[in-house]
Amino acid sequence: MKIVLVEAKGAERSAIRSMLEKRQETVYAFSKGQDAWSFIEQTPDINIIIVSLNDEGMSGLEICWNARILAEQRKGMYVIAISGEDNDDMLVEALDSGADDYLQRPLQEEILLARLRVAERMIVLQQQLVQLANHDSLTELLNRRAFFEHADLELSDPEKSPSIHAIMFDIDHFKRVNDSFGHDAGDQVIRTVAKIAQAEGDLIGRLGGEEFAMILSDQSMLGAARSAERMRETIENTPILINGHRIEITSSFGVASYQDGDSVDALLKRADIALYRSKNEGRNRVSVDRPHKSVIEDDYKAACNIRQKSRA
Ligand code: GH3
Ligand code: MG
Ligand code: MG
Repeated sequence: MKIVLVEAKGAERSAIRSMLEKRQETVYAFSKGQDAWSFIEQTPDINIIIVSLNDEGMSGLEICWNARILAEQRKGMYVIAISGEDNDDMLVEALDSGADDYLQRPLQEEILLARLRVAERMIVLQQQLVQLANHDSLTELLNRRAFFEHADLELSDPEKSPSIHAIMFDIDHFKRVNDSFGHDAGDQVIRTVAKIAQAEGDLIGRLGGEEFAMILSDQSMLGAARSAERMRETIENTPILINGHRIEITSSFGVASYQDGDSVDALLKRADIALYRSKNEGRNRVSVDRPHKSVIEDDYKAACNIRQKSRA
């Protein structure tokens, strides 16, 4: 676990730090709340914040409050407030402000470490819940809701959004797989396609039965079309062996570039229209949405050539 400790008094800070380090925790100790908070904001994998409520500057209560807000996006964060002796009012306020637990001075090592074990259990549980809530159990890809949430974050970053592309893809004639080989074989096919897609990108969702979406950042249209073409080719060349049967599948792809002001919905809609062109033109191919004029025309033409190649 990575722990941020906020304690203004040097002697106290060293004492708590050495208690924590006995458990081989990674501890980042700060004397000022503001410095600690800047560090927490920039360090996404902080799990535990231990904050003294007596600090000056940015108060411990403010940190509890801010951490609660940040924990909405960053699940699996746990705040332990440390109060002065006999200061119950402050403790109530800390818990109401978002602390998960509290300790009263003078600190006892066994109690601090026992509370850390509780924190760890809670963090692991929360991470498991988040995993379950956001991922599809068959493929472990993001589910529809979580995919849209993640994609929305990418699109809302003005530095990233201009080079974002979406790929929508769908297994061809998948119903036939179920009808001929059974539902379990169908599931195996879906898992195989998901694995192939995972080799090509990080932000991938299973939007429905055998329909997937991928967001690629930092790509040209040609780069995105190449990604789609690689997946198309790999899927075509990866027969799935089940109960002595060799199941060969193909899938169809649609690629679209981000355009100014796009919502995730709007971007995916254009990728979906391109995907349906792939379906209508015979399946097992990549189609690209004709992009906005700001996208380099040569790039679009080269992406179209990928489509023509995959048609052959
Ligand atoms: P197309 O090429 O036009 O995409 O045809 P298709 O047969 O792939 O598409 P269609 O939408 O007709 O059929 C999709 C099928 O996927 C229907 C549904 O029973 C099946 N399906 C949906 N979810 C699952 C799943 O989780 N597992 C399995 N095995 N089948 C699923
Ligand atoms: Mg299909
Ligand atoms: Mg479908």
